[in-house]
Amino acid sequence: MSSVQKATHGQTRSFNASLVLRTIYDRSPISRAEVARATGLTRTSVSDLAGELIEARLVEEVGRGPSTGGKAPILLRVVADARLVIGIDVADGELRGALVDLRGEIRQTRTRELGGRDGEAAVRLVDELIAELVAIADRPLLGIGVATPGVIDSDAGIVRWSVHLDWRDLPLGPMIAERHGLPVHVVNDSQSAALAEFTFGLHPGRGNVVVVKVGRGIGAGIIVGGRLFGGDGHGAGEIGHTTIAEGDIACRCGRFGCLETFASSRGLVLRARQLATRIPGSLLSRFADDPSAITLETLQDAFAAGDLATRQLVLEGGRSLGAAIAGIVGMLDIERIVLVGTVPAFGDEWLDAVRDEVHRRALPMLAERARIEIGLLSPDVAVLGASALMLTRELGLSLAR
Ligand SMILES: [Zn+2]
Repeated sequence: MSSVQKATHGQTRSFNASLVLRTIYDRSPISRAEVARATGLTRTSVSDLAGELIEARLVEEVGRGPSTGGKAPILLRVVADARLVIGIDVADGELRGALVDLRGEIRQTRTRELGGRDGEAAVRLVDELIAELVAIADRPLLGIGVATPGVIDSDAGIVRWSVHLDWRDLPLGPMIAERHGLPVHVVNDSQSAALAEFTFGLHPGRGNVVVVKVGRGIGAGIIVGGRLFGGDGHGAGEIGHTTIAEGDIACRCGRFGCLETFASSRGLVLRARQLATRIPGSLLSRFADDPSAITLETLQDAFAAGDLATRQLVLEGGRSLGAAIAGIVGMLDIERIVLVGTVPAFGDEWLDAVRDEVHRRALPMLAERARIEIGLLSPDVAVLGASALMLTRELGLSLAR
């Protein structure tokens, strides 16, 4: 056999093994005969491949199914904790990392305070977090999925530009892969949240969805026909740095008036700090001597307590976001728009402000169809999305709940 034939034979075999694994994963518990029927492979091939998967401890036998006349068939299933993946989310002032099993269950979580670190220092912290997760993993690791804000060339694992982290043309994927000897996939954090929402959300796996992540930054992940849409240069959904009005707060990108300076958690906090010295009687004025002590939590408390200035500020932020979403609705006519991140935790009144502004600005026919809702508020949403991507790319498995 020539080396080309060998290679082709090997590829076919690995393709078939992946097909068998995927079928067992999606339809377990399932017998070898049913796998053969579902895949169109011969029963001998399926038996051989299942044997290899059992030897690799990815698949196990779980008793017998109902007999259809002859001997009751042995059933197979994928071992959920046969392998683990590491999911990392580099966003919102905190690094979150988790060990996730083959069914998307989080086994362990670890965090690191980013504390305003960017550039090299932020890379070192990511590296430290991964090293800790590698050290505590008690199962073989499949690889590492990293979600990070910015324009990401996912195929090459390169962060083209992350405003918040001050990363430009950073080969994050290859760097991590070399240090830890594992496959690495890097994805934009909003796109990762979109994958998680599509996989685990309220209406999983249905058609088109736009997920807007509103935290320290703002970005949208766009799924069209079940697939992430990245645009021509990986920047689809980078709406946070589109200027929407005159503004007096400098954005981290160096300009004024970006959407993020009005509607992100950073923008809201910076505006609240300005207000602290200007509005006597507001709960914010308690911080007049030290406005820098105001955090997102301060705003959440003041909002819940009904503080007028805070409510106005937060709801105006919601309306600014609504203006941007009206543009998305008009551009894509995608009905399901899901909001995730730390800012949607302000809840229904904030959501109403977003919706009102969409209705005020978008074509009524499109605005009426649009269902804008708050999605998964788990802080692990981007971590799960990165893990789901890792499983799809490495094993061909699609998580579903
Ligand atoms: Zn900006």
